[in-house]
Formats: sequence, C-alpha cells, structure tokens
Amino acid sequence: MDRIYHALLLAGAFLRPASAECRILKRGLSRDLLLMGDGILTPDGVFQRDSVLFIQSGRIAYVGDICGLGTSGGGDDASVVDCRGSVISPGFINTHEHIDFSTVAPFPDIGERVGHRHDWRLGTRNFTMREVAVNGSEIDAIAWGELRHIFSGTTSIIGGGMVPGLARNLDFTDGLEDGLESRLVIYDTFPLKDRLGIMRNGDCDYGPNAIDRDTATQYHRYIGHIGEGIDVEAANEFICLSNVTFDTTPAIDGSGLSTDIIAPNVALVHALGLSLHDFDVVAARGAKVVWSPRSNMYLYGTTLNVTHLLGAGITVALGTDWLPSGSATMGREAACAVSATREIYNVSLAAKVLWEMATINAARVAGYEDELGSLEAGKLADIVIFSGERDGDPYEQAIFAPQEKIELVLRGGKVLVASSGMKDLTSGSCEQVSFGNVDKTVCVADELGSSFRELEASLRGVYPAVLPGVPPYEPSCKPGIKL
Ligand SMILES: [Zn+2]
Repeated sequence: MDRIYHALLLAGAFLRPASAECRILKRGLSRDLLLMGDGILTPDGVFQRDSVLFIQSGRIAYVGDICGLGTSGGGDDASVVDCRGSVISPGFINTHEHIDFSTVAPFPDIGERVGHRHDWRLGTRNFTMREVAVNGSEIDAIAWGELRHIFSGTTSIIGGGMVPGLARNLDFTDGLEDGLESRLVIYDTFPLKDRLGIMRNGDCDYGPNAIDRDTATQYHRYIGHIGEGIDVEAANEFICLSNVTFDTTPAIDGSGLSTDIIAPNVALVHALGLSLHDFDVVAARGAKVVWSPRSNMYLYGTTLNVTHLLGAGITVALGTDWLPSGSATMGREAACAVSATREIYNVSLAAKVLWEMATINAARVAGYEDELGSLEAGKLADIVIFSGERDGDPYEQAIFAPQEKIELVLRGGKVLVASSGMKDLTSGSCEQVSFGNVDKTVCVADELGSSFRELEASLRGVYPAVLPGVPPYEPSCKPGIKL
C-alpha cells in the first residue's frame, strides 16, 4: 500500500482540487478498493482531508487518515479511486417495507384520513376500503422493489419478502447475502392476529395466537406493527402488549390476556397510537421504533413526535412502508420526516439525525449493528457514494440524494451500480441504464436471472424503479384533514 500512496503523492493527487464526482486513479486486479475521500460519513462526524477507506475481501479493512493506513497485505492489487468532493456513506437500511407491493401505483388521494389501519384495509366504520393486490408475479414484484431501493442507495431491507441476490433481506435466512450469518429476525404485520379487523378497547380479546412474551423473547429481533392508528383501539394494542395486569380475565377460548413483550429485541412498527407516556415505557425497556412518516401522514394525517422519542433515548429507524401510501425511496422518507416534523411540531430535524435513522439506528433495529450500518473497520463493505457540491451539509447530500446522484453502490464490496466515471470498476454482466439525464452501469443480471431491461420490458409499464427527484404520484406528506 505504501507504493500506491507514494505514487499518488508523486502524481499530485492530493493537490488536485476536489471535484463533484469520483475518478479512478488506478484499476487494480482484485475487487479491493481504496477510496480517497473528504466526505466519509460516520456517526462521530465527517472524515475530511486526506482520509481513505480501504475495502478488502468485501469488508472495510481501514477507515481514517491516509497516514494510518500502513502496509495492508494485498493492497497493491486494489483499485484506487479519488472521491474527494463526493460523500461516502454506509448503504441505507430500510427497516420497513412490504416489498411485494412494488409494482403497484400509490393509492389515489380521496381525501380520507382514518383512525385505525382496519378502516382503510377493510372499510370498517364507514371508511373507504382501499383495495390493493400484488400486481403480477410476486417474485418479479419483489425483485423490482429491491432494484428501486438499490438504485437509491439502500443495500438492506426488512420487507416481508425476498429474492436471492440484490438487496440484503435481513428478515430472511436465505436473503442475507455474502458475509452475513443468520439471526432470527421476525417481521410480523399482525402481532395480535387481527388481520380480519378485530379492534378492542379496554380488553385484549383479540383471539388466540396473539404474540406473547415467551414467544417474542426467543427471537433475535421481533419487529411488529403495533398501534397503527390514532384512536383508542390503536392505543389499546400497545397496552395489551406492554402490561400484564391490564387484562387478566381470559376470553371464552382461554386467550385474551394482556402480555408484556416490550424489550430491547423488539421494534414497534408505526406505533402511532402510543402516548408520550407509552413512549417513555418503550424507552425504559430499551425497545426500538420504526418510523414511516409518509404512510402515517397519508393514511392518518399525522405522525410521531419523533423529537420526544429521540430525547427519551429510543433508537428510531426509518422505513418506507410500501408504495401505496409510503415513500418510494429512503431519501423521500427522510424528506417527509423533515417536513412533517416541521409542520406538526415546529421542530427542524437535522439531516444527520435522518441519516442515522437510515444507517446505524436501522442496523440496531435489525440487530446487525456489528456488521452493518457504519463505516468502521471489520464491517461489511455495504457502501453508497453520492456526487454533489460540497459546500453544504454532507449528511444532507447523502440522505436526500435523488437516484441520479448515485456514483457507486457496493454490497459486500461488489459493485451493483456505478456512474459512468466508475464504470471500469464493474465486472460480470452489466448494462447501461438511464437515470434521468445520466447513464449508470447496473450489474444485477447475474443475481436477477435476466437483465434489468428484460425485467422492465416484461413488467410492461408498472410503477418505475428508476425515479426522478420527486417520484410520480407520491403520496402527500401534508398534515391531514380531520376525521
Ligand atoms: Zn407496514
């Protein structure tokens, strides 16, 4: 590695002014990669001048000042890329998706904001039932959804469905991809088994087979929809899952007792029906929250007072929920998080806070923070690089970036997407795909089983995976109309 470093110094590489895009200084023989950067994002701040990130065998081998790099074995085969002027981030982790709904368009806005998820799911209490079905083949839809997220810098998803390859699917043993070992991460849309529309107020008679403490504690992570709504019935769900003394009277079938699953291995998805006091309980127990503000705003007209949660010490991660009412990308979820919090609570969220919700906090929610979620030596090289102007906040440049700003997406050091300037880093079956006005090289065919273009052609005009800055028909993030 010394040789490369000295060659770079001789070439005056560090004297060159930073540009908005990366450029390859040397194409090496291996997949190992030395990225020189002045915008390497970490939870402790931005590594600036003369910093490097060295990727070896799919993992981050070193990140820090170039002088500390030393003589790492095998480094002479690495490619060397000057990314000063760009922003280098961990790949985003989307902690909530229903990934099989990726070929449907968002719901048309009929102006209705409801009290509980069953109101729009099933049309209870005189609300309009919002029908939605997986469009076409489920496998194609999931692959299409994973591609949309990869194209916007997301490398891991908790989405209730998976295809092999593409994004890591942290809730599936078979979907983890290179370098991750299996942990029991459970995704549950109906912890109370209320799929048919059971709503309770004052007791926990949801019927048999609801989640209980003994079951939930067996899992590495239990990530469940709890309290999705703004009414007492939504609030009741949390009480039934957090307080063993709330309902001690069995229903006729013997079930129906309240339980207490709230613990560090549990993440609550939505949690919109919880009071501030309830969130203090969540905080005290070390449980986590998955926040999907756009879907909350669009369906219920409001969202969490997230500054209270953060102030209480709760780990909050972002999730896009699904295309019908949520965000198409993590960047758009973050944009909604900011505008909703400003409009409802008159608080400005910093870009870094949103970025943490999409990276290290998300890794903690998934229970993979030792492997993913930050740029640290030893972790997997799931990395996204965004081009841009470096006079602003680099966290902002990352978390709000449109797809066309993507320079490189790496999963375990493997190039999945590269900008035209980074094309020579790619290998395997790759193709050119237009992202707006710029071409990207997309290398997914080996894993997809067809080219991206072939899949796109076969899907015939479904909701796109390549998106402009504001995706078409994006669900509104405006505070809602009263019930
Ligand atoms: Zn959901």
